[in-house]
Amino acid sequence: MSSDKTLVCKDCNQEFVFTASEQDFYTEKGFTNEPGRCPACRQARKNNDRGHRGGNSFKGERTLYNAVCSRCGAQTQVPFQPKQDREVLCRDCFRPKNNYR
Ligand SMILES: [Zn+2]
Ligand SMILES: [Zn+2]
Repeated sequence: MSSDKTLVCKDCNQEFVFTASEQDFYTEKGFTNEPGRCPACRQARKNNDRGHRGGNSFKGERTLYNAVCSRCGAQTQVPFQPKQDREVLCRDCFRPKNNYR
């Protein structure tokens, strides 16, 4: 029979109880390691992971920031954080319309 075990969380160093039923659950699932973190820290990490993954749909691409073109007012995206004092141009305005020869 399993019995309750007291473990120390490696994130917050708080003791938490790894109960007999949790141990049975772990064994059932085939987990060989004891949990390293208390339930609160585990939950927090889960939430963090979700936040990181959900935010960026461009896989392997640079982060793009939404900006408004300071010349024509069109919505555009730029690879840098737009600043108040910096002119942001959309693709159309950025491309020179006249060819200087
Ligand atoms: Zn913890
Ligand atoms: Zn523009």
